[in-house]
Amino acid sequence: PVRTRIAPSPTGFLHLGTARTALFSWAFARHYGGTFVLRIEDTDVARSTQDSVDQILQAMHWLGLDYDEGPFYQMQRLERYDEVIEQMIAAGTAYPCYCTVEEVEAMKAAQEARGEKRRYDGTWRPEPGKTLPPIPAGVTPAVRFKNPIDGVVTWDDVVKGPISVGNREIDDLIIRRPDGVPTYNYAVAVDDWDMRITHVFRGDEHVNNTPWQINILSALGAPLPKYGHIPVILGNDGLKLSKRRGAVSVGNYEEGGYLPEALLNYLSRLGWSHGDDELFSREQLVSWFDGTHLTKGPAQWDPAKLDWVNGQYIKQADDGRLAGLVAAQLAKRGIQAETAKLPAMCALFKDRCVTTVALADWLAMYFAPVTPSAEDLASHVSEAVKPALAALAARFAAIEWNKAAIQSAIKETIAEQGLKMPQLAIPVRVLVCGRAQTPSVDAVLELFDKEIVIERLRSL
Ligand code: GLU
Repeated sequence: PVRTRIAPSPTGFLHLGTARTALFSWAFARHYGGTFVLRIEDTDVARSTQDSVDQILQAMHWLGLDYDEGPFYQMQRLERYDEVIEQMIAAGTAYPCYCTVEEVEAMKAAQEARGEKRRYDGTWRPEPGKTLPPIPAGVTPAVRFKNPIDGVVTWDDVVKGPISVGNREIDDLIIRRPDGVPTYNYAVAVDDWDMRITHVFRGDEHVNNTPWQINILSALGAPLPKYGHIPVILGNDGLKLSKRRGAVSVGNYEEGGYLPEALLNYLSRLGWSHGDDELFSREQLVSWFDGTHLTKGPAQWDPAKLDWVNGQYIKQADDGRLAGLVAAQLAKRGIQAETAKLPAMCALFKDRCVTTVALADWLAMYFAPVTPSAEDLASHVSEAVKPALAALAARFAAIEWNKAAIQSAIKETIAEQGLKMPQLAIPVRVLVCGRAQTPSVDAVLELFDKEIVIERLRSL
């Protein structure tokens, strides 16, 4: 059975790249009826925080990436890592190394000065017939993996195809530091083994780590998962997507008024395709995502495309749901939008909004004062139209507030004042909505309280 995992390091928010890897791992597991595991890789104790764990869990939940097992925390598995290290030392596939950090650094600096590759020189590596240095007093050793000297590590990457790395290229990696904390490549190998992971999808910044993980798993006699290294996401400028050049956390998009299913749909198309399909449901993604059609080249983050996708989802979204999201956006601005009319307001404006933030920008006029721009006032609200506005306000005061009556009042007023529709409708929009262009004016006005409309028409 297929078992995948996502293994974020809790040193910040959930990055879009990690979210995409999570999505692929999740969709692959769901496609094959398998299991999706969440593992928190918190061995970087100085940088890992509970706040980050919370943010990651919240963002996964928001995206609907439900996991079947976990979260497992590496720092709660130290005993297990120690146990396996004891087995490896006994089996001769790992050994204590008493070199200090300074000694290793000096060794590598000397190699570099001689024009050689920086690598651990094997001082403490046991070999048949070799005499090791005397063990220094009072030094807690690191533990190193005894990497094979010869041979080639080869795997058929699900994304990149066959990859081979000569063992001479890699050295004896530290698997447990003197402070007792395991290092990344070792902990991942033990975890992937214990959690019976069959497919590892991760960012291709990890491709250089894979030979070590394969060697460690082989030394443990563990089955090897298949690896798929997913190319980076590049920003519009061709550089790796990073915090400095825009929003890279999933949370930013939640706040920015994107719908989770839209972000998920968009993310799935970064580095994967299904023909020319652009818009599809979570269920379709799961039924299509079989691990093929993953792209070898980097994907390009395209904010305009994301906006388009989100706009499509907003158009189709249930108005009651949008109302809840818009109310939350408005609440952040200190605007209470508790009205039974909110869904109807969303319905009227959603076609022109690509985010719920944009929708809130529109709907704020129903709940808070508007300030028409000086330009709009100057170009649309002339002295000549003021009597018509006053006449309209008077008519409004006398009618029952519904769309048909609003429309009649406007028509009567333009007939009486000898105006054309836009000559009245645009000034009304500017005064009531704070904008010169809106959907059909009667539909927009109907959703206001009548008193507010009258007050704004008389505000001149
Ligand atoms: N903790 C690693 C990261 O966040 C995970 C790498 C892996 O999936 O093996 O990049």
